Formats: sequence, C-alpha cells, structure tokens
Amino acid sequence: MNLQPSTFNLQRPRRGESAFHWMFGVECWILNVFLICLWCFFSASAEPGVVDTTASPFAKVQTVGLGEVRWTRGFWADRFELCRTQMVPSMARLMQGTNYSQFYYNFEILAGRAEGKPHGASFNDGDFYKFLEGAAATLAVTNDEALKKSLDEIIGVIAQVQQTNGYLDTWVQLHQRETNSNVAPFRDRSHWEVYNLGQLLTAASVHYRVTGKTNFLAVARKAADCLDEVFKKPTPELALQNVCPSHYMGIVEIYRATGEPRYLALAKRFLALRDLVKDGGSDNQDRIPFEKQDEAEGHAVRANYLYAGAADLFLETGDTNLWRPLAEIWTNVVSQKMYLTGGCGALYDGASPDGASYQSGITRVHQSYGRNYQLPNTTAHNETCANIGNALWNWRMFLATGEAKFMDVVELEFYNAVLSGGALDGTNYFYSNPLRVTDPLPVALRWSRTRVPFVSSFCCPPNLVRTIAESADYAYGKSADAVWVNLYGGSALATELAGEKIKLTQETEYPWNGRVRIKLLACGKKEFALKLRIPGWTTGARVRLNHQPELAGGTPALPASYFEIRRAWQPGDLVDLDLPMPARWMEANPLVEEDLNQVAVQRGPVVYCLESPDLPPGVKIADALIPADMKLVARFDQRLLAGIVVLDGQALTRSEENWKGKLYREFHPGALKPVNVKFIPYSVWQNRGPAEMSVWLPLAGREEDGRFLK
Ligand SMILES: [Zn+2]
Repeated sequence: MNLQPSTFNLQRPRRGESAFHWMFGVECWILNVFLICLWCFFSASAEPGVVDTTASPFAKVQTVGLGEVRWTRGFWADRFELCRTQMVPSMARLMQGTNYSQFYYNFEILAGRAEGKPHGASFNDGDFYKFLEGAAATLAVTNDEALKKSLDEIIGVIAQVQQTNGYLDTWVQLHQRETNSNVAPFRDRSHWEVYNLGQLLTAASVHYRVTGKTNFLAVARKAADCLDEVFKKPTPELALQNVCPSHYMGIVEIYRATGEPRYLALAKRFLALRDLVKDGGSDNQDRIPFEKQDEAEGHAVRANYLYAGAADLFLETGDTNLWRPLAEIWTNVVSQKMYLTGGCGALYDGASPDGASYQSGITRVHQSYGRNYQLPNTTAHNETCANIGNALWNWRMFLATGEAKFMDVVELEFYNAVLSGGALDGTNYFYSNPLRVTDPLPVALRWSRTRVPFVSSFCCPPNLVRTIAESADYAYGKSADAVWVNLYGGSALATELAGEKIKLTQETEYPWNGRVRIKLLACGKKEFALKLRIPGWTTGARVRLNHQPELAGGTPALPASYFEIRRAWQPGDLVDLDLPMPARWMEANPLVEEDLNQVAVQRGPVVYCLESPDLPPGVKIADALIPADMKLVARFDQRLLAGIVVLDGQALTRSEENWKGKLYREFHPGALKPVNVKFIPYSVWQNRGPAEMSVWLPLAGREEDGRFLK
C-alpha cells in the first residue's frame, strides 16, 4: 500500500457516501442537527485530547478527549470540512508522489517497496508525521474505517523501516545506504533527527488516543527508547541536536500516553542538555541557559516549540525554574514582539543581540524574532509554523493556569496568523504571513507572496492541517467541578465530570457576531460550574441563564476572564452569552516605527485588512488614507470568500505621483478624494489572485476642505 486516495478514501466524498459527510454537509442541515443530537446521546468515546493533562499534577485545566467534542455548524465546522475533504486528500497525493519532493516515498524505498534514490529535505519525515497526525485526528469525528486501514498500512511500512534499536530517519538511513559516507545518526544537527522523531512521538500519541490502536505507539516507544539511550550521557555534541525542538512536546506526550517515568526523565534531560552548548546563539535559543532567558530571541518556530515544550514539562513537574522564564518571555512577546495578527518572527534575517556593545558575540539569526518593537510589515516573516507554535505554547500556559489571557492569544492566532497560512481552496499555502504587500515590493523576498501548493520547506502546510483537524479540542476544558468554554463556535460536547455524564451544545455565528447559546442536554445531580471565556477585546459582555440576567453573585463579566455560573444544572438549561463586537480602530505603541500614525481594524477576534480588489481600479494600497472619523458598517456577505463579514466605509485617496528614481521630494498638500472601500478578514486575503494588501493604513490627519494639512 500506498496513499492512493482510492485506498486512503480521502478524496472528496460522493454525496451520501458516509454518515459523516451528511453530518457536516451543507446539503442537509436539519439531518445534520438530528445526527448531532444522536451523537450527543450515544457518544461513549472518552479518549484524551491532543495534549493530555488528565493526570498532570500541575495542570489547572484538563483537556477533553478528541472524540468528546466536535464542530457542528458555522465557521469552524466549515474549516474542518475543508480540511477533511480538500486539505488532507490533496496533501496525501502530494506526499505519496514524487513531483515536488519525497515524503512517504523515502519510506517505501527503504522498505524495498519502491525503486529510487533519497530525495527531499532532511526534515521531510517530520512533516509527513504531522500530516499523519492530522489525518488521524479526523478519525475522531469520522471513524472512517478505510482511512484507519490505510493508516495501518503506512504505519506498517514505518515500522518495517525502523531499526531494531528504535532509530528511524529515512534521510539518514537512505544516505548511509547510498553513499556509505560520513552520514550517521545524531552526528549533524542539520539532519533534523530529533525534530523528525518529536513529530513522530506526537503523531503516534494522537493516533493511539483516537483509534485505541497501539501499532503507531509501539513505533514511538521504540523511538523514545532509542532517544533515551542515545541521550543517556549528555555531551556538548549531543546538546547541539536540540534544534527546532518538537521532541520536548513529543516525549512528554508519550510519557502521558504510557506512564513510563523514563520518558519524563528524558524530557528533563533534554531541557537541561541545552546548558552544555558551547558558543551558542540566539537563533537556536542557546546563547544563554533557558532558565536565565527573559526575552524571545532567534528563530521563531524553534523558540515557540521550546517554550511549548518547557510549558509541557512544567505541567508535569511544577518546576518554577521553568515557569519564571516562560512567564517573562510571554510578557515580552505579547507586549513587544507579536504582530496585531498574532504573527511571530518579524525578520527574514538579522543579527542578535542586534546592536550589542560587544560585537564579537553577535550571531546571525533567521526567520526570527526581532528587537523589541521591531515589527516591519512588508518584510515580516511570520512563518505559519511559528504562529501555530505560539498557539501550542499559549494552550499549555492556559492549561497550567486557567488564565483567559492565554486563550485570548490562542484565539487570536487561530482566526488570523494561523488560518492565513492556507487558501480557501484547501490546496495552496503561505510559508510567511506579511501584513503588507505592495506591487512592486521594495525588496525581493525569498518566499512567495501568493499561496502555492508546495514550498521547499514544507513544514507549514501539514502543521496547518493537523491544527485545523484538532481545533475542536481547544474549545472546551475541564477541572474537578467545572466545564470551561474556551472557544466559541457551533459545537457539541459529551464528556464526564466527577463520574457524571455531561452533554451540551453550543450554537453561534461567531466570529461574525458575539451571540452564543449553550444548551445543557444532559447532566448529573452534582453542582458544577460552567466557565465562559470573556475575551479581552470585549466590554459589556452579558450573560443570561434561562433568559434571566445572570450575575453569579454580583461578579461582572470582566474582559480577559472566565465568567463562572455554578449551580445544580438541569437538562434543558440555557445560557446566553452576548459579546459585543463593534469594529475597533487599533493603533500601535509609538515605539513601533513601522506603524506610526497608522491604524488597523479589528472586530471581535478577527483582524481586518484592505486588499486591492476592494479598491477602485487604478488606486494603489499606498494611496489609501483613513480619516480619523471614518465609520465602518459590518455586513455579512455570503458569496464573498466563503462567507465573511466585511466592513464597508469611506476612505480617502490621494493620487499617486511617479516616485521612480526618487527617494525624497518636497511635500505638497494634495487633493483627497473620498472612495468606498471594503475591509476583509486578514486570514482570507490573496484568495482572489495576486494583490496588494495592508493591515495598517495611514491616518489622513486633520481634514479641512478636502486638503491634507501638515
Ligand atoms: Zn513552517
């Protein structure tokens, strides 16, 4: 076997092909609702979530099982369906083929099932595992037997390729076989073995939790045992292997899945190993020991994976030496280094510490966090994986604390800098996510400003697939006597709390409006709390219980908090939440030079942008100015970009004069013309062909008689 869609059953299903298709198809929403109700009453699945904090001693919040929650209708149900019917099948075709690179094919060559030579990036194994994780996660909803069978066949090939000592890396193994050269396990960090194996560990734990099968988990355990053996005696050479550390999250998750204490000990050794790096640099976050760090530095994917892994270890150990840097770095990121969209990693290339007084210690960084407040828009790198990494990190910070500020970041990422990484056709992807694109660009840039089906660094697309496939798992959480509602979206939850079954549904058109209705379908006799996240961007949130205003003992629904309703619940109880979400003009701290005298629009969790198809012909993005009193009207447009709320308004334009050959010129006030414009959500820009786009737009300043005043 192979990943042929006919076997994999990943092509767009024919009408009526499966119950799942009907459950989520737009063709029959009445049947949809009926089937969701059936699922709510009969669902018996209780496997843990992607991250399993069920037994984590320092978790304030436990995750719910992947099979306990699902999107039903609305924004996320649509995205999940796009993921299941378009993103997963098209990626299966790409990864089984050899047109662009080799992923599964490298395993097949090594297994003697195909002819060929090793080809592709050394991190392709890890990205293939991420894809398998995403495909496995969809099983929690579909229980698709054909997909399960195909995954079993693939896992069989992976197991066949794995060496008896547990080592597994097709790039290294194939090159060893081909050239008999100096290629050897764990000799060169650019072979990305721990990154690859880290993704294997996470993918296997998800597959195990969703299917209950231990075949992939057995491969992961052997790989973990191999890592345990190789990293038994820490050395400076081994310390260099800690690059793009997905293996911190992976080994902790295998510890949670198996309860094997050696794996937790290994996770501790992995983190401690970083201190042995000699002459490290910011790019790999090993310039100084992690415990002494207080600022996000270097490659943003590596950084956010490190922080997420350290947070995972904190959840198991409660080690305050991990929490202190995590808390300080988090404050640094959200108050000085993160874009309005949640984008992480301002720089394509740079130096760190930039401008330090000791020049000899400065090293090169790439795809990296910049200086504080260094947030360029056109040249922003903001790799999709870094933005996903920030969500992974903040999710774990939330699980450790129960604090809403971390879920605010998860939500910001999901609606903006994460979803922007994929096109609405489900087959094209961004590697970097800038906040401004002009034609021409001021400088040539390495990565495309249009979404493409393949990039040589194919880490982001499968990362996006698994994130969307698992997105429902972030929507709810549990603690001893509380159910936490973290994300809003049409969904159903069927779980257990203190031995009693709880079933509820959520109906909403969020994020297009802030009205949410939660209905208790089943519950026991014990009192418990329903905790509703009140996002930090809203004021005036109102909660009603069974149509009556609910103030829970006088506690107001404060922004960036969880509003708690504690009571003995009855089936049929209704909770209505109203989160006012007017469009809001945003400005940046004046220390962000690139955003000086500019504004951006945010409505609810959604950041907006202006794209050239929504300007009159001939008007450039650089011509658009925002009058300080500009009014915006929110309007749902069913036909545009898969159905979005657009913001209509009247901006001003100035006529563009020819700047060719000029860097400066004398300023002359020019006539301004009103022009109707339409803002769209940032995440769906560049779905109408190549275009100019900007999130930040200059203020027109004081307007008087149509003249632009200095
Ligand atoms: Zn990536």
